[in-house]
Amino acid sequence: MQPKPSPQEGNELSLNLQPELLDGMPGAGTSNGLETGEDVRVPMTSSSGPTGGRGATSRRVRAASHSHSHSHVHGHTRGNQESDSGETDLESGESSSSLSELRYILRWVKKSLPFIIILCAKLVIQHALGLAVAVGLFTTFMYVNKSIQTQVFLHDRRTKLHCAWLMLFLMSSSLLVFYTFYTQSLYRCLIIANPTIDFQNFWEVLWSVGVSNFIVKFVFMGLKCLILLVPSPLMAYRRRGQWYMLIEEVGQVYQVIAPVPLWFRYLVSYDEMDTSVGLTLGILLALIYLIMKLLGLYGQWGSLQKTFRSFFSYELNGAPASLAQCRDAGDICPICQADFKQPRVLVCQHIFCEECIAQWFNQEKTCPLCRTVITDKVHKWKDGATSAYLQIY
Ligand SMILES: [Zn+2]
Ligand SMILES: [Zn+2]
Repeated sequence: MQPKPSPQEGNELSLNLQPELLDGMPGAGTSNGLETGEDVRVPMTSSSGPTGGRGATSRRVRAASHSHSHSHVHGHTRGNQESDSGETDLESGESSSSLSELRYILRWVKKSLPFIIILCAKLVIQHALGLAVAVGLFTTFMYVNKSIQTQVFLHDRRTKLHCAWLMLFLMSSSLLVFYTFYTQSLYRCLIIANPTIDFQNFWEVLWSVGVSNFIVKFVFMGLKCLILLVPSPLMAYRRRGQWYMLIEEVGQVYQVIAPVPLWFRYLVSYDEMDTSVGLTLGILLALIYLIMKLLGLYGQWGSLQKTFRSFFSYELNGAPASLAQCRDAGDICPICQADFKQPRVLVCQHIFCEECIAQWFNQEKTCPLCRTVITDKVHKWKDGATSAYLQIY
């Protein structure tokens, strides 16, 4: 009686078949039942009956009686659902259809999840070394970036030993990567040359570009550590900030240029290179890539020019504060809560140490006390931070 296909949805059909499936294998019933909200009712009803250890005939009888009760129960639920869906259709037909599509996709993902997990495990095992290097490089970057920012913030209280350790750490990580993959001579990526890898493989190119991007970041972070190691009397805080900014901007331009030879060669060396059409297409793609790169570099160039201007202009916020002004302000810097050092008075007449306010304007545009807008631009990267943006093309 049940398998007769009714002019309803696929759901209906699977439900009618359910009791027989359930009786065939009692264990499987529950897992099936969990798949959708509708199906949950089925195993619950069947489990109310006696389970296991019965003869085949009694099962069949039960199956018949159950299917009656199911269709009955289902009739009710379907009625409710139809009225519900009718309302939603009136409200928004599109959303309900997209919802059912979403449900379908979710069901598909649920069903194929074990296979996806198996596949992921296989990929992880296959590329264990590459993944380990990627994770290692990323954690190294995060750790050193955070540490450099902390040391820059600490200013006079920074520990030179820690800065030296950071530099050593960066150097040894880079050398370890170059040593591990010395057959590919990855260091050639740093001098904007092609490493010796098989350029037919897209993933290899992507991987080398990613790894060399991290190494370039490490080189420029090492330079920042060098600035940190310069003794305080030789370089003022403001000057340091400008150096960090310059290093970071130049580093970003370099990161844009560094992957060009790799991708260019990959795009030109087409698989179908023996045919002239393939070669032409490859050259065309490479040219489009180059144009895209040049446009990107043009944008970077403007930013770099601004940085250079700022680096050489050595501009300061506010004017030097007189002794009387300092006395009126209580002789205490509101930021560091100590005596003023090279005090500067802002347009809002608030006074701060030169270093304190310079540090503040690395991140803010307004006076720390009254929120008057003092500057129209925040100089990024003066705090020693390095952009985490991964330049993969
Ligand atoms: Zn201060
Ligand atoms: Zn103010």
